Amino acid sequence: MRIDILTIFPAMFDGPFSHSIIRRAVEKGHAEIHLHDIRDYTEDKHRRVDDYPFGGGAGMVMMVEPVDRLIGNLRRERDYDEVIYMSPDGQLLDQPVANRISSLENIIILCGHYKGVDERIREHLVTMEVSVGDYVLSGGELPAAVLTDAVIRLIPGVLGDETSALSDSFQDQLLSPPVYTRPSDYKGWKVPDILLSGHDRKIDEWRHEQALKRTRERRPGLFKGE
Ligand code: SAH
Repeated sequence: MRIDILTIFPAMFDGPFSHSIIRRAVEKGHAEIHLHDIRDYTEDKHRRVDDYPFGGGAGMVMMVEPVDRLIGNLRRERDYDEVIYMSPDGQLLDQPVANRISSLENIIILCGHYKGVDERIREHLVTMEVSVGDYVLSGGELPAAVLTDAVIRLIPGVLGDETSALSDSFQDQLLSPPVYTRPSDYKGWKVPDILLSGHDRKIDEWRHEQALKRTRERRPGLFKGE
C-alpha cells in the first residue's frame, strides 16, 4: 500500500512514523509513506499557501492552487483509490472504515490547517472525508497519523502474530477482554486462576465471556452496530 500525505508540516510525522509498527511495516516493504510539503507547490515567493476568506471573518483558508498542482502531479504518476481530506465534519473513523481503507492500493491524505481548505478542493479533488472524532484539532497532521496507523497495522504481515489485529477491540463488534502478564501475583493483586490453568478451551470461553461483559458494560451500542 502507498500513502501520500500532503501537509504544510511534514516534520510533524517524524515521531509517529519512525517507531514501532509503522516503521517496521515500511522497512519490510508492506507500506510506502511519502510526505509532500504543500509549500513546495506554490509559486508565491513567500511560499504562502493560505489567504483571507472571501466574505471576511476570522482565520485563514488554504488555497486551491498548490494542492491542485500537487495532486495533479501525483495522479499523473499513478491512479489513486481515494483522496482523503481529514476533517471534523467527515465520516467518523471506526474499525470498518479503517478495514476498508487498508485494502486499497494507493491513497492520498490531505491535512488542513487554519480555518480549513478552500471548499473547491473538497468539491473537485477530494473523494472521501474522514474525522477522528467530534472535537477540533489545529491541523490534519495528528488525524492523518492516526488514520495511517489504524490502516497500516491491518495490512497482512505487518503484525507479527497474524491473528493479533483480528482479536483487537471492535473487529467482532466486541471490546477486548482484559490481559495480564507476569508476575501472577503482585502485592496480592492476582491474575484470574483460569488464565494459569493451561486449559485452552476454558480460557477461550472465559475471554469471550469477559469481552461480552465489557462490551455490555461500556459500549452496549456496539451490539447494535452503533
Ligand atoms: N473550521 C473547521 C476546522 C478547521 S481545523 C471546522 O470547524 O470544521 C484545521 C484542520 O485540522 C482541518 O482542516 C482538518 O484537516 C484538521 N482537523 C481538525 N479536527 C479534526 C478532526 N476531528 N478530524 C480530522 N481532521 C481534523
